[in-house]
Amino acid sequence: MSGLMGDFMDELKAQVENRTISLPSRWAEKRRVMGAPFEGPYSFKYHPWCRELHNSKASWNVSMKSAQAGYTEVGINLALYSVDVLRKNVLYVLPTLGDASDFSRSRFNPALRMSPYLSRVFTDANNVGLKMAGNVSLYIRGSRGDNALKSIPVSTLILDELDEMDQSQIELALQRLRGQPEKKVWFISTPTVPGHGVSLEYAKSTQEHFRFKCPGCGKYDELRFPDSIEICGEDMTDPDCYRSYYRCTLCNYKFKEFKDDNNFIRQDDKLQALTNTGVWQPTIAGTDPDRRGFKINQLYSYTVSAGEIVIDWFKGQTNSFAKQEFHKSVLGEPFVGENSQVNDEMISRAVRNYSSTELTPTAGQDRMITMGIDRGEWCNYVIAEWFFDSASVDLNTAASCRVLAAGRFHQEDFEMYPDRLMHEWQVKAAVVDMDPGHQDARRFCRRFPGYVWMAKYIVGRTGKEMKIEDDGSYAPVLKVDRTNWLDVSLGRFYSNRIELPNDLPRGFGEHCKNLVRVYEKDSEGHPYAAYRNFGKADHYGHALNYAEMALPCAASIAHNTNISKFL
Ligand SMILES: [Zn+2]
Repeated sequence: MSGLMGDFMDELKAQVENRTISLPSRWAEKRRVMGAPFEGPYSFKYHPWCRELHNSKASWNVSMKSAQAGYTEVGINLALYSVDVLRKNVLYVLPTLGDASDFSRSRFNPALRMSPYLSRVFTDANNVGLKMAGNVSLYIRGSRGDNALKSIPVSTLILDELDEMDQSQIELALQRLRGQPEKKVWFISTPTVPGHGVSLEYAKSTQEHFRFKCPGCGKYDELRFPDSIEICGEDMTDPDCYRSYYRCTLCNYKFKEFKDDNNFIRQDDKLQALTNTGVWQPTIAGTDPDRRGFKINQLYSYTVSAGEIVIDWFKGQTNSFAKQEFHKSVLGEPFVGENSQVNDEMISRAVRNYSSTELTPTAGQDRMITMGIDRGEWCNYVIAEWFFDSASVDLNTAASCRVLAAGRFHQEDFEMYPDRLMHEWQVKAAVVDMDPGHQDARRFCRRFPGYVWMAKYIVGRTGKEMKIEDDGSYAPVLKVDRTNWLDVSLGRFYSNRIELPNDLPRGFGEHCKNLVRVYEKDSEGHPYAAYRNFGKADHYGHALNYAEMALPCAASIAHNTNISKFL
């Protein structure tokens, strides 16, 4: 049979078949066709833990993933299954519009093209952001940008790389599900920092681990680092690392690896145990069974040897970026490095027995007081006094900081409020951020010529250095390295070189805590450190940072010399 009649018969056969393929996992095996490296029908052969993910009946599902967990493929399968079998609209969200377009082209298009069945079902698949199967839609969208996720009524929502998304847009997307009788949400992401995105959602879930029967002792065990690996070797260059092996944490049963003709280390013994006996088990009792969470690490991977894991671990001992990546990509866990985030304990340790009204300067006092202002609709300020107890060449290192006051005012009051603060606190130097819109900042500079600087964060400058641009219009601009200055100002909390009044506004501590130091990669793949706020308010943290930058400015005035002398 050929032509229309053939198509019709195929369609009829498929419809009958769909009725017998009730489980999403069975549907995926029958309907998905994969390209390299696992060519052929989709299978659970190398990712046995993914089967149960397909069949989860929970409304809320969280997948905290490590590299090569196969979780993204699950997201794709569930999206296509919902459209094809359940006949329900699906919204598949990625962090940016660019991510969404790339994903549509590189993942969804091949998925539809390679499966003769799906290429028939999806009648209109050319549109990057929308794939139609009859009158049912699969929307593929980026989380950023106004209205990106508005007015799309769906019952299935898949958020892929949740941690990188605009968190306020996620709220909007979740609201789309309200009123849907049967809703399904999938949060999928590589974790970033604790308490954010996927790790936050995972904490609310059943927190399931994939456990299996050990071939040695017959008891249920899981693969976790470092207990499940016999670690060999002394450092990352030691060839003995490759003698490391996976083992049972209960009886030390050694999982056999063997090298095939292509020098590929195969993990058949481990895979067999996972395939035959693997089962997801909650690790937390009493959580809502309608919120399932699934976490898997790279120790489970068929293609990753124990030796490779050990080498990655050794790398992390000497390199902060590698350490972060080990936790995120290998262990699938959120991670914050040492001295990378201020915590409550550090803040309460810094609070002293004085209030912000007690230490106002009186006439004739000569005190080193600076101010930092972070502008926005609301402008946050920090007033700080500086004391020198050591003779370091570096001014900021030598100084300890006493925050005198902090607060905020509305941008409409920018004509008056900061001026009053300058007089009230006898501020020697103030730094205000240049953006958004330069006008307010520029005018403020000109009202106090020689006492106020505008700051512009530059990514990629090295050292604590400042570059000053002064066009003679009494509105000098400090170009400063964001990461390095935040290292200095927030670093005071780690080294106990900051004091806080006992009546600071509530947001102060939170804003400092919300700036987390992480490693990112530039366009050439080189890692660099950066502070991220993960969508949370950080204004007082920046105001404090500007007050810190104002110190060398104040010193240059006091000594009538160039700022660079104090850096
Ligand atoms: Zn055992």
